Amino acid sequence: MTNSDRERYQSIEVLREILKRTLKGLKFQLDCGHYVTFGHFLGNNVTIYNGKDLRIICSECGY
Ligand SMILES: [Zn+2]
Repeated sequence: MTNSDRERYQSIEVLREILKRTLKGLKFQLDCGHYVTFGHFLGNNVTIYNGKDLRIICSECGY
């Protein structure tokens, strides 16, 4: 990776703030059928499969 490539990547803190602000308190049924509540300490963890379409499942159903 070149220095100019590297400069295009933002800090993980930027992603964390986007997710926290956007998702806090929201509830979803995931692609695996399980449920998640964001910002809840007992909530499921999620795995996001990247690609043209995102597939989002709980960590229990991850492979
Ligand atoms: Zn699941």
